[in-house]
Amino acid sequence: MHKVLVSSCLLGQPVRYDGQSKGLTSDILTQWLQEKRVVAFCPEVAGGLPTPRPPAEINAEKVITSTGEDVTDEFQLGAVKALALCKAQQIKFALLKESSPSCGRNTIYDGSHKGVKVPGMGLTAEQLVKAGVQVFSEEQLPELVSALAIADNN
Ligand code: SF4
Repeated sequence: MHKVLVSSCLLGQPVRYDGQSKGLTSDILTQWLQEKRVVAFCPEVAGGLPTPRPPAEINAEKVITSTGEDVTDEFQLGAVKALALCKAQQIKFALLKESSPSCGRNTIYDGSHKGVKVPGMGLTAEQLVKAGVQVFSEEQLPELVSALAIADNN
């Protein structure tokens, strides 16, 4: 049975920049939790950032908060720790929160702090994809279910 790395905020943990969660209501997620298939992880907390914290966006290879602070190092540390966890626990699948500068799989904000989304990946998602982890956003849950079913049967 393959494990799945899941963004902590999708599991209802209040780790987002605003101190809230983005809990995902899903029967399949409930099943995975019961099966102990889920490994919860928040790269930004793991990277040493507090909660709540100013929102951050990727801008020209850097991650900058709305207050102008450069938090690239913390975001990179979170990505490194995510990959280390996947390697240690042989995790080959991830379900990450879309549009986050850490977890975004297909879109991120454009760095202007004006709510504009553009195609792109967060630092952790990119690190995991490069390492061969199959990363899906919460908007791609059916695709992840299919990929896991194939992997579990092999
Ligand atoms: S870094 Fe990822 S897990 Fe942590 S709050 Fe942001 S989206 Fe959720």
